[in-house]
Amino acid sequence: MIARKNYALTVERAIDQLRKPENVYLWLVSLVGMILLGFSILTLESSSFKTLALFSLLAISSAIGTTSVPELTFETGSAISVASIPLLGPFGAVLVAACGSIGTWFAVKNSGYSRASLGQVLFNVSVQSIAVALTAGLYFQFLPDQLILPIYYLPFLWFIVSVVHDQLNFWFVMIMVRLQVGPTFDLMSTWLETRWAMSLNILLIWLGGGLVAFASLKFGLTGILAYFVPLGLSAYAFRLYINKTQSYMDNLEQIVSERTEELQELVSEKDAFLAMLTHDMKTPLTTIGLYAQMLEKRPDMLPKKPHIATAISRSQKNLLELVNNILDVEQLQAGGAIKIEKEHFDLAALVESIYGTFEAVAAEKKTVLKIDIQQSEIIIFGDESQLKRVIINLVSNGIKYSPENSEVCIRLNTTREAVWLSVEDNGYGIPEEDLPHIFDKYQRVESHKDKAVGTGLGLAIVKGIVEAHAGTVSVESQSDKGSIFTICLPKQV
Ligand code: ADP
Repeated sequence: MIARKNYALTVERAIDQLRKPENVYLWLVSLVGMILLGFSILTLESSSFKTLALFSLLAISSAIGTTSVPELTFETGSAISVASIPLLGPFGAVLVAACGSIGTWFAVKNSGYSRASLGQVLFNVSVQSIAVALTAGLYFQFLPDQLILPIYYLPFLWFIVSVVHDQLNFWFVMIMVRLQVGPTFDLMSTWLETRWAMSLNILLIWLGGGLVAFASLKFGLTGILAYFVPLGLSAYAFRLYINKTQSYMDNLEQIVSERTEELQELVSEKDAFLAMLTHDMKTPLTTIGLYAQMLEKRPDMLPKKPHIATAISRSQKNLLELVNNILDVEQLQAGGAIKIEKEHFDLAALVESIYGTFEAVAAEKKTVLKIDIQQSEIIIFGDESQLKRVIINLVSNGIKYSPENSEVCIRLNTTREAVWLSVEDNGYGIPEEDLPHIFDKYQRVESHKDKAVGTGLGLAIVKGIVEAHAGTVSVESQSDKGSIFTICLPKQV
């Protein structure tokens, strides 16, 4: 009883499936195709067996040879089946088309492309068979024997044969898609979109198919063989080319995704920098704003409170320095070097004057600032104001990134050719993993962010300036032990 019910259910489902127009079409086309194929096998003459085998081999090998692009695999198969029409007649050509189609299915299946279902394979084989049979009908109607026609007619007539064959194939398949997708599928716009592929296909059937057909008629099996080798080889070369292009595309995809990651990193770096920048700009701007408002209300206040002018001027200098840093970094980023104007000057005197200005700053933080200069006068050829920025940056970092009661020491040594300036502190130090990137722009040690304000630009600029003097900068550091930044500059460059 249950078995009967299940059977009834299966039949009901099958009838349901058959009610769908696309299934009716699928089975109708497949049925006609199979009848055609069956008839072709039955009427196969033993005398044409060799020719048929050769053409089929050609169709199958060209299918396997061009597997990289399934669409194209179809088309090479079509070209061969059309080429077999004059020698083998409509039914022989149907067999060649079927062999090509099965070859395509086999090759696509083995190449990793999605495997078609049995219904689809039957449909494809049938479409190819019907299309080639109809094309053959047209051929024998208008081209009874192409060898007796004037030779210049041939290209024109083969062109028509190619267009007809291509369009028959196209419309058979498109009707199926239309039935599956429904009225939203616009046949005409699909036709327009696939024009380029059609032209390629028509060209392939027209030239490739036409030439093989001509050769087979004129020279028989030798003619087919003569074309088999170059065609097979070119199909194989094409496959290699496509595989190579594919791997190149894969590579390109990889590069694009790496670049995207890099860009994302860059964007987050910039975001962090902008956040810091707005923070750093806000303090001096607020100071300037507050004091300016005060002075607007009470201009007579200034003589009694001169520190207001000092605070405004310091804030302006901070802002200017910030802007200059950004400009320098942007310049470095654009691949340019920082502008250097060289002159002879006494580096020892410069270091001493910087020491003088920073002594008070250090004392405010209860930090002892020491100086150790080997020689009272060290003349070098360089940009004094830019090197001043370098030393200020290193000394202020030494103080900034050290807790209270620390020690910062500036050392200056010289030989005949070069000078070494180092700034040593016993402060927070830099973790080992941050050391390789510490001279990159916007880089800051994570744990330092809440200990001191900064933009992460100073060391990038230091490096830019030192390198513009043909010098080097290096760092030795250990977390919670301290750091030594050393620059080495040639005296004369
Ligand atoms: P900023 O000080 O504006 O953040 P820098 O480019 O001068 O930018 O420094 C980059 C980072 O290197 C700092 O944020 C800090 O984390 C680390 N750093 C620089 N100098 C020292 C130092 N002397 N001791 C410890 N860390 C330092």
